[in-house]
Amino acid sequence: MAGWSGGFAGLSRPDPGPSGAAFWLRSPTGILACHSAERIGRRSRAQAESIALEALVGAARRHKASPLLIHGREPRDDTILKQVKGLRLEFTGASDGEAEEMAGKLFPPPPAFGPDGLVPVGESIYLAKGSRDYYVDVLLGTCTCPAFSFGRRPCKHLIAAEKMGASGHVRTTA
Ligand SMILES: [Zn+2]
Repeated sequence: MAGWSGGFAGLSRPDPGPSGAAFWLRSPTGILACHSAERIGRRSRAQAESIALEALVGAARRHKASPLLIHGREPRDDTILKQVKGLRLEFTGASDGEAEEMAGKLFPPPPAFGPDGLVPVGESIYLAKGSRDYYVDVLLGTCTCPAFSFGRRPCKHLIAAEKMGASGHVRTTA
């Protein structure tokens, strides 16, 4: 479908929690016609997604952006889409990395985690000691903490462990 394109994403960290909504809209010639990334208070991720889609649809209506290929998942509740009867919309069905990155920038970076909290337990593995203990693997780029599991990658433990490895405390490569 040659035409307009748009993307949207809503994030909530944790879910529900502080949220952000972002969207972008490009003309058929690829010009960025409209974009926005905003903090929207405390919401669930589903609410944040709806707000982001609503903002995109509002912009599409103002620009008479039709046909429009939306990078994102079609909502189960089509109330938002009923507002744009005149426009031809299609969804890719996959979440949009660009809008997700825009929304992600609304959140502060993870707080610094000092090297004192890291205990090397293997060639590439550290034990991150805090209120709870987590395992960081700098070779795989993983951590067992909830922040990492919920998509805040890299988390503060991984950032600290990578710094420590780079400064030569522990050799991760031969
Ligand atoms: Zn972590």
